[in-house]
Amino acid sequence: MSKDEVTIILENLAKLFPNAKCELVYHNLFELLVAVSLSAQTTDKAVNKVTPSLFAKYPNPLRLSLADINDVKEIIKSIGLNYNKSKNIISLSKILVEKYHGEVPHTQEELESLPGVGRKTANVILTEGYHIPRIPVDTHVERVTKRMGITEKTDSVLQVELKLMSLIDEAKWHQAHHLFLFMGRYKCLAKNPHCEDCFYKDKCKYDKKPPK
Ligand code: SF4
Repeated sequence: MSKDEVTIILENLAKLFPNAKCELVYHNLFELLVAVSLSAQTTDKAVNKVTPSLFAKYPNPLRLSLADINDVKEIIKSIGLNYNKSKNIISLSKILVEKYHGEVPHTQEELESLPGVGRKTANVILTEGYHIPRIPVDTHVERVTKRMGITEKTDSVLQVELKLMSLIDEAKWHQAHHLFLFMGRYKCLAKNPHCEDCFYKDKCKYDKKPPK
């Protein structure tokens, strides 16, 4: 697909989702890092329900690094995987305190060295927290861009990211990430996407969409 075609898709998505933005509630980089870490395999809404209590009790890396894992587990129990997530956010808080003076690091390498932080989470911190342009590829971004034929079905998550970066101007990476994510979250759902009135239905590569 050409850069011009992707630009047109993004223009349509921007009309559809003029307010596409990060839906996790956070007030600083530490809270963003913890919230993104907690968001694996659950929804931002579910994370937003537990983080106010978590951050009220553990407002900074030092406090969270000293937390009792059972207490953290209890606070975040509604979002699933609560043992691993509790362990990871306590461990990463310890590293922030011991290695980074309580600050969240700002390089991909340093971020990915933190427990439970992979490439996608690191990219979210960079683009959302530090305004260093990136295109974090989550399940929504991957599914939508593959269905639209922007990326190939067989592409790895990394290939999707690199392809999108090559097809979209860097200044638009951040917003493109939110637009594809909103499309996947609210319209091009994993099951039963709303194809009937989709602006892209005539060109879409998704083979289960209903007949025109
Ligand atoms: S036509 Fe359906 S599958 Fe294709 S992009 Fe639109 S909502 Fe998604």
